[in-house]
Amino acid sequence: MNAPALLNTLVRMLGPSHVLTGNDAGPFCTDQRKRYHGQALCVARPANTEEVAQVVKACAEAGVAVVPQGGNTGLVGGATPLAAPPSVILSLRRMNRVRRVDGASQTLTAEAGCTLQQVQQAAADAGWLYPLRMGSEGSCTVGGNLATNAGGTQVLRYGNARELCLGLEAVTPQGAIWHGLHGLRKNNTGYDLRHLLIGSEGTLGVITAATLKLFPLPRTQVTAWVALPSAQMAVELLALARNRLDAGLTGFELMNATALQLVQRHFPQLRTPFASTAPWCTLLEHSVYDATEPAQQPLQDLLETALQQGLISNAVVAETVAQTHGLWQVRESIPLAQAEAGLNVKHDIAVPISAMAAFVADTGAALAAAFPGVRMITFGHLGDSNLHYNVQAPEGVDPAAFLQQHEAAINTLVLDAVHRVGGSISAEHGIGQLKRNILPRYQSPVALGMMRAIKQALDPHGSMNPGKVLPAQSPQGLG
Ligand code: FAD
Repeated sequence: MNAPALLNTLVRMLGPSHVLTGNDAGPFCTDQRKRYHGQALCVARPANTEEVAQVVKACAEAGVAVVPQGGNTGLVGGATPLAAPPSVILSLRRMNRVRRVDGASQTLTAEAGCTLQQVQQAAADAGWLYPLRMGSEGSCTVGGNLATNAGGTQVLRYGNARELCLGLEAVTPQGAIWHGLHGLRKNNTGYDLRHLLIGSEGTLGVITAATLKLFPLPRTQVTAWVALPSAQMAVELLALARNRLDAGLTGFELMNATALQLVQRHFPQLRTPFASTAPWCTLLEHSVYDATEPAQQPLQDLLETALQQGLISNAVVAETVAQTHGLWQVRESIPLAQAEAGLNVKHDIAVPISAMAAFVADTGAALAAAFPGVRMITFGHLGDSNLHYNVQAPEGVDPAAFLQQHEAAINTLVLDAVHRVGGSISAEHGIGQLKRNILPRYQSPVALGMMRAIKQALDPHGSMNPGKVLPAQSPQGLG
């Protein structure tokens, strides 16, 4: 079948208003960082699982690739098609129904195109918490969260998207529907296909719905903004907070002064405490579940001890919901401020907490020596040993030109250092297009061989999201 014939088939299936071409397809062909610009025959917008299966089948028969897309907020170019082979973007955004909230099983079943915020709200309306939380929650979708195994700001208490998912419904690369939706906590019936699809970034099938875990809503959440002299002190504060607050510690975010100054510059309306005076700040969140437990006191006591021990230099505790919201808004505005400042060399890394402070100091010094004037925008989920360790061009230097000239060398410097301390080159964003070709340097040939075998078995024609995750070829790795 040729391209016009496939388009006609899709229009017959979905109706003309749900097959977008030309300018209407434009925004779907560019990633959210505006780094990747791809091409697609069209954007197909099915309304239900049966239509997804029909679209995938028609594309398979036509020899056309399928690129699943949710909110298009991914940061590694995973949802952007390549220029070749010809592909259809399969947008799940019309599949946005919360199918069921099951209080007895503490589960919620939602279609893949529901936004994360919609699921959070549906859970809250029924008196439950769905704890996945991130800056993109107004736009990112359940399907995208699972396909990238997203993390966010509450992983240290509730786990990442994988740990929050009990069942899946998906369409295979051949267009068959797999009905794996259930809310069971125990189910050892062969290979766990759910875990294959989670984190596969659209390369093994299309997620159409998911059954997700719910938790009791905390009675209240207390948030503190803390100034610290060094990253080492932040690591020590984390240990103290874990010890004192235990499972009540639901957020521990780290930010350096450069990241906060960027927020101040681009969003002057936000109040960024200590932004110009402290080298590092952390945002701590304490969730209180027990009605008899005092709300503010445990966190106040923790901060007093930390002050006495010299771990922190200053702290403010939010007293109102609006203040709490304001503090989180500052943290969540860092990626947006970075986008305003232009392209940068992004690293979404995990480093063992015990190695974190030395990593930050040594790698920062090595970068400053090799690329004088670079600005380190360092922030992230310290509680999960996950940092966004981003390198911005020196003040006054064109960011795009800097990126083009130095990205490869900066990546090697930073990621080799991550590898040396036993870290991960992708903590929560995935591989997509961005890290595909550097994966063999850091992933063992055995692991890559197993991944290729899985891909070959499930998608022998390579039609699901080609050019993502798996490298084209495998040069020698670091071992
Ligand atoms: P998309 O961007 O549309 O797609 C991402 C990948 O998933 C692609 O490979 C795509 O092919 C695949 N995919 C999408 N839907 C499906 C489906 N239904 N079936 C199969 N494959 C599918 N990420 C974090 O982990 N933690 C954060 O704290 C975080 N903060 C962010 C803050 C901002 C401001 C922004 C812009 C992004 C942030 N992200 C974060 C990244 C991003 O929001 C997440 O990766 C999110 O999970 C992507 O969801 P999406 O629906 O936008 O997916």
